[in-house]
Amino acid sequence: MSGRGAGLRERAVAPERDPGGLLEPPPREEPYYRPLGDELQVFTAAAQDRLPVLLKGPTGCGKSRFVRHMAWRLGRPLVTVAGHDDLSASDLTGRYLVRGGETVWQDGPLTEAVRAGAIAYLDELVEARQDTVVVLHPLADDRRVLPLERAGERVAAHPDFQLVISYNPGYQSLAKELKPSTRQRFVAIELGLPPPDAEAEIVAREAGVSLGTAMSLVRVAHSIRPLRDRGLAEVPSTRLLVRAARLVHAGLEPAVACRSALCAALTDDPELEATLAEIVAAVLG
Ligand code: ADP
Repeated sequence: MSGRGAGLRERAVAPERDPGGLLEPPPREEPYYRPLGDELQVFTAAAQDRLPVLLKGPTGCGKSRFVRHMAWRLGRPLVTVAGHDDLSASDLTGRYLVRGGETVWQDGPLTEAVRAGAIAYLDELVEARQDTVVVLHPLADDRRVLPLERAGERVAAHPDFQLVISYNPGYQSLAKELKPSTRQRFVAIELGLPPPDAEAEIVAREAGVSLGTAMSLVRVAHSIRPLRDRGLAEVPSTRLLVRAARLVHAGLEPAVACRSALCAALTDDPELEATLAEIVAAVLG
């Protein structure tokens, strides 16, 4: 972090925001993650080769949990940034702040990760503005540098720095936003929704319900998921199933838990909601 005070008056400064100190130390306890394929090996190999990782998968399928788990395995700090359509390049790289009458440069979360050798997880980045994606190019390719134009600095990435970005292939196309030469450096890992047995195991473990209860909730989800093609914008993710299972753990009947955690959460359309409720009733008997 460097302090620069002169000639900055024209720059927008945001004294109320301080994005610093965002690195989480490596998790001490193993974050539970049920592997679904060879993602642990692929991520480890990419990290050894200092290649950026592209995680593909629908919302709620375990991408963030996987990254936390890898931070634990590799013993690296982690910084997570959630993409949104207002996220600017300086939200990632840093900005000048006014502190005690002085203007000082404050590293953003990406810059902190680059300097410290952390994993930077940029979640659903494609939601962000184009200038945000552009700052990643020299970092993701062979140069591994982060130019901080405003601070007049080029930060060489720490050898342990690992860039991870995620996107939902269902409705986003991050691939289009990245330069082909950059895109080709990413190691892609596809994490879909887990197969039924694995999903039941995850739900049972995460919510503290029996495997039988978890399996019946998974069956509900699997009956609802095909409705994606018939008007349902989002289908029940593993996250929503875990939520329903927690309600069951808290004492609700499974059908009631499914209606509130799945049906009502997924649609506001009364007809569609009624269809979902019928499916719940049919599956749970
Ligand atoms: P995403 O980042 O893809 O939106 P998350 O990682 O937040 O999804 O996953 C949502 C929840 O689903 C997690 O908090 C966890 O309870 C559960 N989960 C999903 N997949 C797994 C998995 N493979 N192993 C362990 N938990 C999982």
